[in-house]
Amino acid sequence: MKLLDRCVDKCFDLVYPPRCVFCDALLAEGEQYFCRSCGEQISVAEGSDAVRPGTYVDRCVAPLYYEGIVRTSFLDYKFHEKTWRASVYAALLEPYVKEAFPDADTVAWAPLSRRSQRDRGYDQSALIARALAKRLELPCARLLDKVRHTGQQSRLSLPEERRANVLGAYAVHQGAAVRGRRILLVDDVITTGSTMEECGRVLTAAGAEAVHGAAIAQAGRGGGAPDAPEDGAEPQQ
Ligand SMILES: [Zn+2]
Repeated sequence: MKLLDRCVDKCFDLVYPPRCVFCDALLAEGEQYFCRSCGEQISVAEGSDAVRPGTYVDRCVAPLYYEGIVRTSFLDYKFHEKTWRASVYAALLEPYVKEAFPDADTVAWAPLSRRSQRDRGYDQSALIARALAKRLELPCARLLDKVRHTGQQSRLSLPEERRANVLGAYAVHQGAAVRGRRILLVDDVITTGSTMEECGRVLTAAGAEAVHGAAIAQAGRGGGAPDAPEDGAEPQQ
């Protein structure tokens, strides 16, 4: 990292001291990204469990399990404007992405529909994609639009229902340069992977050379009905 960036980061830390991405506690000396207590509670996918194979998205890294404090942290991030967490999620993802996809040349994301973005005021996956691209020193580009509002994927539990729900929901953003790119596609949480796959299908059809995936967390461990809102309104608690 450049000296100026480091100075800016240091000043930023003085004004906004780093907090735990899961519980908001101020971090103690020696803690990074999350506090010790949260570190003991989160479930990290080990080894090959952190990488899920796909068809149009060749592989998707997803290092955390979407449960407990990870899930709470995410819902706060998505629905309660804790947008500062995007840069910490990106920092958590960085080593996984660097190891799995050293060939990636462009970072993109699975976008919200215009309606969801208007309601929420920000696109949570875009924020993570931008922060990750900065760390990787790669360009971040809007390559896709969500052209059809799909409602909540989380209401659907069967993989085939989820696939059908997102079919045709994404299109290449007008003027986006996709052909020949090796794209790292970012989403927040993956469940069955249907959203990622549909985005990967569209990008592949537009001439992408490779589509890799990265999500912070994976839901649905153990095959139970997942509660991972990929879009739409806040789930009923
Ligand atoms: Zn914590």
